[in-house]
Amino acid sequence: MSDEQRPIIELDYDYEELRAPVAALCAKFPGEYWRAKDRAREYPSEFVQALTDAGFLAALIPTAYGGSGLGVGAGAAILDEIHASGCNGAACHAQMYTMGTVLRHGSDEQKQAYLPKVASGELRLQAFGVTEPTTGSDTTQLRTTAERKGDRYVVNGQKVWISRVEQSDLLLLLARTTPKDQVKKRGEGLSVFLVELGAAIGHGLTVRPIRTMINHSTNELFFDNLEIPVSSRIGEEGQGFRYILDGMNAERILIAGECIGDARWFIEKASTYAKERVVFERPIGANQGIQFPIAQAYAQMQAAALMVRKAAALFEADRPCGPEANMAKLLAADASWAAADCCVQTHGGFGFAEEYDIERKFREARLYRVAPISTNLILAYLGQHVLGMPRSY
Ligand SMILES: Cc1cc2nc3c(=O)[nH]c(=O)nc-3n(C[C@H](O)[C@H](O)[C@H](O)COP(=O)(O)OP(=O)(O)OC[C@H]3O[C@@H](n4cnc5c(N)ncnc54)[C@H](O)[C@@H]3O)c2cc1C
Repeated sequence: MSDEQRPIIELDYDYEELRAPVAALCAKFPGEYWRAKDRAREYPSEFVQALTDAGFLAALIPTAYGGSGLGVGAGAAILDEIHASGCNGAACHAQMYTMGTVLRHGSDEQKQAYLPKVASGELRLQAFGVTEPTTGSDTTQLRTTAERKGDRYVVNGQKVWISRVEQSDLLLLLARTTPKDQVKKRGEGLSVFLVELGAAIGHGLTVRPIRTMINHSTNELFFDNLEIPVSSRIGEEGQGFRYILDGMNAERILIAGECIGDARWFIEKASTYAKERVVFERPIGANQGIQFPIAQAYAQMQAAALMVRKAAALFEADRPCGPEANMAKLLAADASWAAADCCVQTHGGFGFAEEYDIERKFREARLYRVAPISTNLILAYLGQHVLGMPRSY
């Protein structure tokens, strides 16, 4: 059997040695903690610090730079367990993977300067600036410019939905370095920069928080002649979109892990309540109208989890995994949403009560069908690039 044919998923191995300590850590952050943070729209600093101290956010950083050197499958299992425990990894998941761009495309100096400090938590690299208000999902058309002037770039433009900027030391920024009409291909002419936020905020960068339906610390960014050194550019000028795409498969797999965890949480809550709640003198779970949607969501979650594992295994084997990473994210986000919906339905009125945590998780789970990439864009990718149908946009 050639390497290409060999199965790459070990079905009976599920990172138990990682899951148990993650679950133990999460048990210290129960529903009351998250409810209070949600109400005040406060960043869960204590939770993030505990994950940092335990080394979980440095899981994917190679040991040479002070991390654990684990694969993306392990990262997905950590995030899955966080979400299955009722916690929210979205507050800090980017610290796990944003560094990948520096690791794969940064210079030796950049790697030495940043990665050990990201691994220890001394530097927080968990802000990722891509989306813009005017161009949205059409990333290659983004308009924020970084114009070279001697040993500096001058950045002008606007970003939206850039999360955790106020809780980060570094922002990975995608900006245009060659005007659109001077590039041959859509993805060219964009570059990636590692912006030191302490020096930038108030000196050309303005951050305006956006209050959303979830507690997510997200912001609008305004760049007005922000000067950054040429040494802050990662890799070659004009190749930034390719670098960002490289990291997106890892991001999709990790976020899919979070969705699987959410689905597990909802299904556990729903099936437990369905067994306990008695109406018309029998448990509501004895009714197929309640039981089947939960069973359906369970099957969806299990199938999505298999796709997450396949995508992770391909990624770790350095094999192409774009379709699998995208399908993992699509299926996992849909499974968590199906589980969220039936969990609310199973709980009837109590699904709306804050103290059950379901309404909060319900709001949080909805995000993943929109961000970091919306479901439609994944379907368009599959339709065009996997199935060879005409470009639909
Ligand atoms: C809470 C939150 C946090 C976020 N954090 C970050 C972050 O840290 N960094 C960052 O860069 N971005 C972030 N985002 C942005 C996120 O990635 C985008 O919201 C998402 O990619 C969708 O882009 P958009 O909002 O501009 O929607 P649009 O591109 O305006 O699309 C709107 C709707 O139209 C659909 N649509 C658009 N074009 C097509 C088409 N051709 N075919 C079919 N359907 C189409 C989309 O699927 C979507 O449903 C965040 C968003 C949210 C809500």
